[in-house]
Amino acid sequence: MVTILDGKKLKEKISEDLKRKLDKFPIKPTLVVILVGENPASKIYVNNKKKTAEKLGINSQVINYPSNVTEEELLNKIDELNNDKTVTAILVQLPLPEHISKENIMNAICPRKDVDGFTPYNFGKLFSGETPTVYPCTPKGILLLLDEYKIELEGRHAVIVGRSNIVGRPLSQMLLDRNATVTVCHSKTKNLTEITKTADILISAVGKNIIEGKMLKSDCVVVDVGIFKDANGKTRGDVDFESVSQIASYLSPVPGGIGPMTITSLMLNTVELFEKFS
Ligand code: NAP
Repeated sequence: MVTILDGKKLKEKISEDLKRKLDKFPIKPTLVVILVGENPASKIYVNNKKKTAEKLGINSQVINYPSNVTEEELLNKIDELNNDKTVTAILVQLPLPEHISKENIMNAICPRKDVDGFTPYNFGKLFSGETPTVYPCTPKGILLLLDEYKIELEGRHAVIVGRSNIVGRPLSQMLLDRNATVTVCHSKTKNLTEITKTADILISAVGKNIIEGKMLKSDCVVVDVGIFKDANGKTRGDVDFESVSQIASYLSPVPGGIGPMTITSLMLNTVELFEKFS
């Protein structure tokens, strides 16, 4: 019988603890989110972040820019927020329009306010085996969920499908730091099934329905990060729930798995930055 890795339940548990902690703070953290353009998914994500923050007692502000905003305007705003002592966490919602350099924007955020852990400073720290100011939210959420279910990582073979900067790459380093043996696959990987068959823990972050039960070994732990709408408008993950739940020992669902854990990690990171640097 497969055990569901319930991210929604863990989110509730962590949120209760966080709220109790925040209730005792005389001054609250302030999270500022910069949203550029009209991407509908980004708008929903930003709205959820704001609502969750407010429920917990974190001040939050969303600054909206039209998609034709210049890079210079954004850089000036980030500079202003970096120097504003009342602002304790800054998040720039990705993706950004093509005329804006994501690298320049990330580079501009003060690492002490880098709530996503995406600045080159924090990435550099992570990949050199040092401790960044905070860990990127989705990989952090994945590890919190695996830890909640006491899933052993040390010495186990973790296979990650997807090598993006927001999931696969930082997660590979964080799993290495926990003494897992890590393989990272991507769109040019040959014979994907040969590799996934050897996974003790399989994490898929692709955005396509790509993982079926026959690609896995018995009792494998499966984490589904992907989230997209299928042709009928239904929210789907990378994993074929039906076949994978027959073979896996643990499985995170979509929705209700890694999505809630990502937002919870953002809240944890906001509080961590506040406690470390305010
Ligand atoms: P991304 O930047 O588009 O990266 C997708 C990765 O999948 C790439 O590394 C790509 O390889 C790889 N890939 C594509 N087709 C493949 C194939 N056929 N076989 C193996 N690998 C393949 O996406 P992302 O931003 O990491 O997001 C991935 C998914 O996770 C999306 O559905 C996104 O919505 C979801 N997500 C969810 C959360 C959450 O909180 N639940 C958070 C973040 C992301 P190449 O590098 O070779 O192109």
